[in-house]
Amino acid sequence: MPDFSASTLRNIHCVADIIRSSKKAVVLTGAGISTPSGIPDFRSTGSGLWERYDPYEVASLTSYRTHPEKFFDWLRTLGKGMQVAQPNSAHVELARLEQAGYIKTIITQNIDSLHQRAGARHVLEVHGSMRTLSCGGCFRKYSAAGYFDKFLDEGIIPRCPECHHILKPDAVLFEEQLPARVWLEAQEASQTCDLMIVAGSSLEVLPVAGLPVRALDNGAHLVLINRSQTYIDVRADFLIHEDVVDVIPLVAKEILDE
Ligand SMILES: [Zn+2]
Repeated sequence: MPDFSASTLRNIHCVADIIRSSKKAVVLTGAGISTPSGIPDFRSTGSGLWERYDPYEVASLTSYRTHPEKFFDWLRTLGKGMQVAQPNSAHVELARLEQAGYIKTIITQNIDSLHQRAGARHVLEVHGSMRTLSCGGCFRKYSAAGYFDKFLDEGIIPRCPECHHILKPDAVLFEEQLPARVWLEAQEASQTCDLMIVAGSSLEVLPVAGLPVRALDNGAHLVLINRSQTYIDVRADFLIHEDVVDVIPLVAKEILDE
């Protein structure tokens, strides 16, 4: 267990209390919850993945359309990392809290499916996922199994068996719209919750970064658990600038195991 200060321990206790007394808690997660599972943060330096590529350039719709070799080379590195990643204690404990009824919805910016693999059931993937691929030509949808795994192993760019157009994973790229139905649900969950917990997101990517404001505007409490500061720190009821894998298990333990 990390050596938390007395004030952080007090905040952890308060966060457990506020979750217990909430009726409709929503959690919003970002890259910070998956970095301990070995999936590199989008902007963090030191991860080979993002040093070789400019993410804003390579992870874009333009890149997929105009330089598919470069796009798929980047995607293969990312996909291989996801293939071996396992849910960590933060994913597992959030899933336990959800199963026990303390959390209604998990909104995630991550495309790695680690919340679901940890056992969470109501997950809104606002940036899509890598579980399915879509054809840019005929718009058919395919399960990633059988296409993506083959691509990761052999490096063969996945193509539509019907029209032979290059397939694209259903993860949202730069220049792309968020999946409409999921985004609508995420907005509604944010507007109707009585508690929003931001866990492992520095809230830098729009429009998702605006969801806590919607929650606050509708009278919800706000808890922020993130290593770095966010634009909305000043409006949080409780603020814990620590790693989510250290904090969430302690919060869950206090709620579920005592
Ligand atoms: Zn097709």
